[in-house]
Amino acid sequence: MDEHKVVIQQLKNVPNFLSIDILRLDLLHSIISGNKWYKLRPNIEAAKKAKIFTILTFGGAFSNHLIATAAAATQFGLQSVGVVRGLDAETTLNPTLEACKHYGMKLHFVSREDYRKKESHEFLMNLQNLYGKAFIIPEGGANENGRLGAEDIGKLIPHSYSHVCVSVGSGTSAVGILRQLSLEQQLLGFAPMKRGKYLESVISQHLLPKFLPNFQLFDQWHFGGFGHWKPELLDFMNRFYLFETIPLDMVYTAKMMFGVFDLIQQNYFPKKAKILCVHTGGLQGNTSIRSFLCY
Ligand SMILES: *Cc1c(COP(=O)(O)O)cnc(C)c1O
Repeated sequence: MDEHKVVIQQLKNVPNFLSIDILRLDLLHSIISGNKWYKLRPNIEAAKKAKIFTILTFGGAFSNHLIATAAAATQFGLQSVGVVRGLDAETTLNPTLEACKHYGMKLHFVSREDYRKKESHEFLMNLQNLYGKAFIIPEGGANENGRLGAEDIGKLIPHSYSHVCVSVGSGTSAVGILRQLSLEQQLLGFAPMKRGKYLESVISQHLLPKFLPNFQLFDQWHFGGFGHWKPELLDFMNRFYLFETIPLDMVYTAKMMFGVFDLIQQNYFPKKAKILCVHTGGLQGNTSIRSFLCY
């Protein structure tokens, strides 16, 4: 991971009454990209400390977390097992799962119904009977190690920004970042799925009450649901790339940036707002729409 490659880049094409900068976590690594590395690092350290040499984790068939775990585990000399949601994903492996396999991850497919049991003791014991003792990381790296690791993202953000924007999946990154902001800074979370509002309470659970007034969650820019898109989203991604030479991913960061520009249109931000958007990576998720993109 090339942490020195992470830069803060100023956007050129924004109204002149405010500024938008992008924290380019996508430049860390092509696969272990963005926020995933920060959430994985303390988990990998904890596994090694406990002398457990297999990481077992969970995700959907297009999961950035699964592929990042597979690549990071190999890099740090650990084995990995990925429990994949949906038996249909097994028939023909998509490029994400193909890459997981390439990094040595053992894939274990379960039905959507069984996947819901993924936190039960019995389910986890059965998996360890199959694959050996494992260090278990929840879906999305959503444990205290993950939140602690995400605090390192927050530490990269100067207190001069008035608003910090981040895409929200499990909310782990948002929690870590908010814990490191000052009480004068606002964190805006953008959920890329339908009915993402529930994440507000998920995130709040892990925060000291003093941070709650500084946090707001938006869920209206889902474009049909998680992993779904509409032509106007792809148009936006292409225009954003042409103006800024920054590639966005279709699942998370494009929906966040679209939302940020919508909020500007709605006069949500005060004059002189200094906005920082976190580019959480995830560019591997563009494989299925590559032919529609100019990058
Ligand atoms: C996983 C992911 C997120 C969501 O992060 P959480 O910490 O789970 O909220 C956001 N952006 C990208 C690109 C991701 O891959």
